Amino acid sequence: MEVKDLALSPKEDVENVLCEDVTVEEAPEMIKLGEKMIEACAKWGGIGLAAPQVGIKKKMFIWTVGEDLNGRNFQIVFNPKYFVIGKKQMMLEGCLSYANSHFLIERYRRRIAYYYSFFGGKFVKIVKPLLGLKAVIFQHECDHVDGQTIAMKGEKLDEEKNKAFIDSLKSDIPSEKKEIPKEGTGAGGSAIYSFTPNLGDSK
Ligand SMILES: [Zn+2]
Repeated sequence: MEVKDLALSPKEDVENVLCEDVTVEEAPEMIKLGEKMIEACAKWGGIGLAAPQVGIKKKMFIWTVGEDLNGRNFQIVFNPKYFVIGKKQMMLEGCLSYANSHFLIERYRRRIAYYYSFFGGKFVKIVKPLLGLKAVIFQHECDHVDGQTIAMKGEKLDEEKNKAFIDSLKSDIPSEKKEIPKEGTGAGGSAIYSFTPNLGDSK
């Protein structure tokens, strides 16, 4: 597999895609791909990107880790799995595969994640409890490698509410989120927001 410049696949190729586990033999090449994906994801204003979104049918994604989600501190994840615990909440999510759209989706607040990293020529299993936003990003990307997307599971905001939401982000970004690139959110980056479902009729 030669890693070229990456491009986003059309959503038809992302929905219901079947991805295979990454093998130890494939890992070095997948790391090269992961590095390209990190570059592309940062450029596109996303906070996570799964291999099938760029046409690679493998269970691999990159995601933003660390306390500062805007710090672009990405990590490569192989063969992820999780189980959920705790309460559900409604989230408003965007995705690089659905530019300019946001979807309301029910997510669990906590989950236990399992995945592999590659060190010294072998896979190392990582088990981690995840809370809040990180739990949501992890599930969003896990869904991708299982052929599921927010458009398949969530409820799309209509045009007016979507526009109102994007405008509200631009005018009312809390100080700690000031670095969210406007282009990223406006162009449908993989932004994920904690959300109270009250976009009602009033603007
Ligand atoms: Zn996505």
